[in-house]
Amino acid sequence: MPRVTVIGTGYLGLTHAVAMADLGHEVRAIDIDEEKIAKAARGEVPFFEPGLEPLLRKNLDAGRLRFTMSFEEVGRFGEVHFLCVGTPEGEAGHADLSFVRAAADALAPQLTAQCLIVGKSTVPPGTARQVLGQLRAIAPAGQQVEVAWNPEFLREGHAVQDSLAPDRIVLGVTSDWAEALMRQVYAAQLAAGSPLLVTDLETAELVKVAANAFLATKISFINAMAEICEQAGADVMPLAEALGLDARIGRRFLSPGLGYGGGCLPKDVRGFRATAADLGVTSVVDLLGTVDAINVGRRDRVVTLARETIGGTLAGRRVAVLGIAFKPNSDDVRDSPSLEICDRLVAEGAVVSVHDPVAMPTAAAKRPGLVYAPSVFDAAQGADLVLHLTEWADYQAIDPAALAEVVAQPVIIDARCCLDAPLWTAAGWTMHVLGRP
Ligand code: NAD
Repeated sequence: MPRVTVIGTGYLGLTHAVAMADLGHEVRAIDIDEEKIAKAARGEVPFFEPGLEPLLRKNLDAGRLRFTMSFEEVGRFGEVHFLCVGTPEGEAGHADLSFVRAAADALAPQLTAQCLIVGKSTVPPGTARQVLGQLRAIAPAGQQVEVAWNPEFLREGHAVQDSLAPDRIVLGVTSDWAEALMRQVYAAQLAAGSPLLVTDLETAELVKVAANAFLATKISFINAMAEICEQAGADVMPLAEALGLDARIGRRFLSPGLGYGGGCLPKDVRGFRATAADLGVTSVVDLLGTVDAINVGRRDRVVTLARETIGGTLAGRRVAVLGIAFKPNSDDVRDSPSLEICDRLVAEGAVVSVHDPVAMPTAAAKRPGLVYAPSVFDAAQGADLVLHLTEWADYQAIDPAALAEVVAQPVIIDARCCLDAPLWTAAGWTMHVLGRP
């Protein structure tokens, strides 16, 4: 089996390294963040991902997985090097490729024998060929260095399963050698039935941003329907059910609410839009501009509704926020709609108290000034308004009658449209649900 390295041990890279080791590969993983490497080497996962930590420990104990900060070590060790560094939003929405370039620069001088660099990061088309040129210009192995692109589709909260048994493997290659090598790397997943699509480099790069653009469009579509339901006195929930029962449409990603956030969809939609603008493809520019605007508009809608509900001004009013992660089963607060709403409430003078089952430490690192409550009941103590902003299962299990006893006013905005409205209203709550009458 080819020896594997993973460059960048964030959400994607750490999960990928563990999955590769669990499938029997010898793996070396590297990051420039000393603390991350030290934690991983001790068997600690620095973010919330169900099932990942035990698998990390198992593979550390088995000796198949090692962490290092030495590019010399990974360069000499690997035949297949997975590039998993971040590609955050940069100037004018473009993906910031500086981490990709820096990783390639650090790795290149260590590439002394034939090897394959496999990009997994989400990038605009053309990146793989740039990286190839960059590597070959520096690497002692020269033309024996090849590049492939293998975009990652894992979902945070389901990352282990998605890595061990992906619903598809997309592979952009430029040679039969690269394809054959990657078939060995993914032999277990292929044997278990994961479909493999082999493409050119540019198509593989585009598949990922196109997939995220489609998911974002579906979310923004149902949120636009929620807006029209509110104006027409209709109910978006049965509307979504009815649409979703059409097999051509499907129910998933048709949940109305506060819209998407996180480290991927928002930046990938904007990055793809910037790419389309560079390429002069106005249809994609216009489509994704609208998708993004609808999404951001959901945050405005919640703040406006909060202000109206509370009597015209938020200044000095106590607001309890339930949920700060961008989605449940994650502690990720990157581009979290909830975090942005908290910022706006605070800016308008509200006294905000936040609860989240797991994301409070990551949120506190970014927003140390917010008040974090140890329980839902602590957050809601004396609140004039409760905002339900992340759809954790825990919040659907709240006893609304008990919660009504601790608030100043039993008023709630369900921005995720999933609390049991009849139960809450029967317990005395005034409830506003986005898109519902
Ligand atoms: P992340 O920020 O969690 O991790 C990136 C890691 O790369 C960090 O640990 C950072 O220290 C490291 N790094 C930066 N420069 C480096 C260098 N020169 N050498 C070695 N390590 C370096 O980001 P992430 O969420 O893991 O995302 C990584 C990529 O994967 C992005 O392109 C993202 O769009 C894509 N992706 C992410 C997910 C996800 O769910 N998080 C899913 C699919 C694709």
